[in-house]
Amino acid sequence: MIQDLDLIRFTTQFLEKKGALVDENEDHIHALLPLDLADILNLPEEVRLGDDDHPLLYGSPILDRLVQTATASIPVTYGAVSIPYIKKAGFDTAIAQDLSFVNGKIQIGVRAETRTSYMVITSRYVALSDERKEGLKRLAFHEPSGAIVEGFDDSIADFECMYYRQGHLPPQFSPRIGLSLLTVLKSLQSRIELELEPFLASMRRRLHRDVTNTREYYQSLAEEMRTSLAHPNLSDTQRMERQLKIDNLPSEADRKTADLQHKYDTRIQIRACAGERYLVDVAQLLLTIMYQKAKRTLPVFYNPVTRRIDPLVCESCKKTTRRIFLMDGKTNFVLVCPGCSRA
Ligand SMILES: [Zn+2]
Repeated sequence: MIQDLDLIRFTTQFLEKKGALVDENEDHIHALLPLDLADILNLPEEVRLGDDDHPLLYGSPILDRLVQTATASIPVTYGAVSIPYIKKAGFDTAIAQDLSFVNGKIQIGVRAETRTSYMVITSRYVALSDERKEGLKRLAFHEPSGAIVEGFDDSIADFECMYYRQGHLPPQFSPRIGLSLLTVLKSLQSRIELELEPFLASMRRRLHRDVTNTREYYQSLAEEMRTSLAHPNLSDTQRMERQLKIDNLPSEADRKTADLQHKYDTRIQIRACAGERYLVDVAQLLLTIMYQKAKRTLPVFYNPVTRRIDPLVCESCKKTTRRIFLMDGKTNFVLVCPGCSRA
């Protein structure tokens, strides 16, 4: 089979970048794929690309999947934020303001200056209804825990930042982060829906107006036709035909209303388009949490960018929370959000 050399090149480079072992030939590629990549591409781990089973041609399913996967990964920048001063005292007040351990007690233990990492994801959204509305929304989270840190994405612009080049990244940027892209997109969705509320409300108003107008139109039409039934010159057949039309008006009105609902139905598409990862010097505090007769220690972070203690993550549902309930767990007690405390 004759192959397009550009496609062979693209496929080789892409697979190698994703960690595959590739043997590139003139007319085919022999590749050993990492398991996750094989899953995404829906291919066996050992595969020959470019033959009749997996042709590398424009429009072939395998090429479509390769292009989709290549464009799904978003560009990421890496930087370290310069923090001119790290808070050294007054943590009792900060913790009392920012975290509440509803049914437990805490003691603040050792304080240490340390470095942790945060990520800001920028997403682009499009809301499609009778009109179209689009915009960008950012969301920041603490990488190791996955806690969403409100305000970080705005305040980070006030700080000086040194950026790293790809290939020269410090090891503090862990390949493992506490939150999956899917969870980020879900969190973004609720925030975007909130931001789109005026737009959604205007679509609902217009739908209501059009539905009311449609109902009124059909009502007055039915009345008009009913009046005309009394006309003395109508033959029996004409009267029956008119009555049938009148009888059909409600279902016709229902159809029109359903069309309108479809017209104003809003679909929201969200796509992550850029990531920024930051190393930040923070104050780490070791809390001792006491619940009934049990104790646990837990590190929390004073974040100099937001000037607040970072929120925690529910140990059951992984939601970010500043209001923490303590509950009996398998071995020791667990920290959960208000929702899980009621479950
Ligand atoms: Zn929870």
